[in-house]
This record gives sequence, structure tokens and C-alpha cells, in this order.
Amino acid sequence: MPIDATLPYDDSNIFARILRGELPAKTVHEDDYALAFHDINPQAPVHILVIPKGRYVSWDDFTTKARDAEVAGFIRAVGQVARAAGLVEPGYRLLANIGGHGHQEVPHLHVHIFGGRQFREMVPPPRD
Ligand code: 5GP
Repeated sequence: MPIDATLPYDDSNIFARILRGELPAKTVHEDDYALAFHDINPQAPVHILVIPKGRYVSWDDFTTKARDAEVAGFIRAVGQVARAAGLVEPGYRLLANIGGHGHQEVPHLHVHIFGGRQFREMVPPPRD
């Protein structure tokens, strides 16, 4: 079920629990601003999630409230993770789902890094 991204931050969400070390994750990168780990249900040969360390529900929440250093640190981490995964030359795709229409399911901001195969269609057609 997609979430309402305008709701306050919920400290019991699954990514908050991964950040606190309460749930395991296959971590590929960690720094002061971001944690990156493999998606549990990969949609491509490489499917990594990058999340900010701060308590932000969505891209909207993050870009409204986060300090410049947090925004810069998070965005640099996304680039660094993709680079370290060897995705720059073949290319890759970034995706952030926001709220209901974006079909965001976990209420902690995350950017998906997809790679390892050719992508074509940018947005799937509507279903009934
Ligand atoms: P969203 O639809 O919110 O953009 O994507 C949420 C993503 O989180 C999905 O791709 C889903 O597979 C992933 N996910 C959900 N629960 C877990 C978990 O416990 N661990 C990991 N590594 N990924 C998760």
C-alpha cells in the first residue's frame, strides 16, 4: 500500500529499524549522511537503496527541512554508490517514489539505483 507522504515521520518504519541496526541489511556504503544497501526484492541485476540518515519521510520532506550539508552529503552518496557498483559507463537509473501517486511504500526517503541491464520504457502504462 502506498503511504501518505505528508504524515509525520514514523520511527517504527522498516528503514528506521535498519538504520538503528534492529533489522539486517546487505550494506554497501555508510557515511555521516547516508546508508546504502541491496533491495530485498531486486527489480534489476543491481538494485540498491540509498537512504539519508536523518528522519525524512519523502523527497519533499527532505528538501524542505534538511540542512544543505545533509542534502549534499546524501546526493553525493548516491553518485558514489553507483560509481562503486561500476554503473557509470554502462549507465543506470535513479528513482524516488513519493507519496500515493508515486507508489511510495516505505515512509523514509529512499533513492533506488537500478543497473546491470538495458532499461527502455521510462514509466509503465496505466493499469485498470
Ligand atoms: P518504494 O515503493 O517505497 O519506493 O520502495 C520500497 C522498496 O523497499 C521496495 O523495492 C522493497 O523491495 C524494499 N524493501 C522493503 N522492505 C525491505 C527490507 O526489509 N529490506 C530491504 N533491503 N529492502 C526492503
